[in-house]
This record gives sequence, structure tokens and C-alpha cells, in this order.
Amino acid sequence: TLFSDLGLRAELLRAVEAQGYTTPTPIQLQAIPAVLKGGDLLASAQTGTGKTAGFTLPMLQRLADGPRPGQRQVRALVLTPTRELAAQVGESVADYGRHLTLKSHVIFGGVGQQPQVDAIRPGLDVLVATPGRLLDLQQQRHVDLSKVEILVLDEADRMLDMGFIHDIKKVLRVLPAKRQNLLFSATFSDEIQALAAKLLDNPEKIAV
Ligand code: AMP
Repeated sequence: TLFSDLGLRAELLRAVEAQGYTTPTPIQLQAIPAVLKGGDLLASAQTGTGKTAGFTLPMLQRLADGPRPGQRQVRALVLTPTRELAAQVGESVADYGRHLTLKSHVIFGGVGQQPQVDAIRPGLDVLVATPGRLLDLQQQRHVDLSKVEILVLDEADRMLDMGFIHDIKKVLRVLPAKRQNLLFSATFSDEIQALAAKLLDNPEKIAV
């Protein structure tokens, strides 16, 4: 199976080709069609498996396919445990989305807030963030999450290990009820299963 067999649009296939990838990894083979269908997903995947492209490519396709609001609003939100992972995912979103007209940005804690506020003010389609800083900016009304269509929790087990559960729950409260949820985790503790049960509606389950 090739990337070109997965139902991805030409702009995304061109970007994948530019990365030098021809064959999808096992997680991509499963995740891409599942996410394109629009339902929730529970994925067990370690880092290094290609999981980032596994959610980024179909997420970008769904945004490109859907009706574009008049004003740019955050339509996809990706939460990650660390700034390093946020930066990596943000880079993948930018790379894979290079031939689409979607805007993305990355925000994380530990650095000044104002440059991030200035960067997101003009509006954006995809926001990649760590939970604490996202919540700060949301509570100060610098970011509007009321139009989010797709939520991704990447490395959810690490987010819980780092104590982000309360921030995540607060973020969930300001998202629209009707949305697509994707949860990626390397391990499945009771805490992760409880979060998955609360968050996901009849999810497709994949493991690699
Ligand atoms: P991830 O698990 O998303 O952190 O990805 C691990 C590494 O695999 C990254 O350096 C990617 O650039 C690379 N990668 C992702 N998908 C593919 C693929 N289909 N073929 C070869 N390498 C890939």
C-alpha cells in the first residue's frame, strides 16, 4: 500500500513525497483512513512509529475539505506534553500543509507570551499547544476555541504524568461538544482509560 492509495488529496501527497516517504508506516495505514472517516480514534503508538503524520495528514485533509469559515478560527487543536514535541508537531503540520492555504501556529510555556499573542491574533486554522500556556491564553481571551472541529491529544500518557489533567479538562469544557477526538498514547493506565472513556465517542481502536 502506498500513500497514494489512502485517499489523500494531491497537495498532501506532494508534501509527503517531498519528505521522501513512499510507504506509509503501520500506524499511518490504520490511522489515516480512520481519521478521514470522521469518527473518534484511540491509538496505541510509541514515538518513532510515524504517528505524527498519521494524524496530521488526515486532519489537514478534513480541514481542507470542510467549509472554510469567513474568519480564520482555530478548527484543529493538537495538545502535546512538551514544548519540544509541540515544536516538532508544528513543523510537521507546516511541512505537510505547505501546499494548502491553512495557517498553523505553535504555543508553549516557558517563554514570553506576547510574541505568541501577536502571532495568533490574525487568526489561524491549526493550533499546536502545551496545555498550560493554551489555558492561560484562552482564559485571557487571546485564543477562541469555540470553533474547534478536531482535537488531538498526542502522547496523552505523558501529559497525565506531567500533571496536565486539570488543564486538559478545563480546555475540554470550552470546546464545542460536537467534534472529532483523536487520542494517542504509548501506554494505557487506568487514568488514560478513564480519560478515553470520557472523551471518546465509540472510537475506532488501533494499536501498533
Ligand atoms: P513520529 O513517530 O511521528 O515522531 O515519526 C518518527 C520519524 O519517522 C520521523 O522522523 C518522521 O519524519 C519519520 N516518518 C514518518 N512517516 C514516515 C514514513 N511513512 N516513511 C519513513 N519515515 C517516516
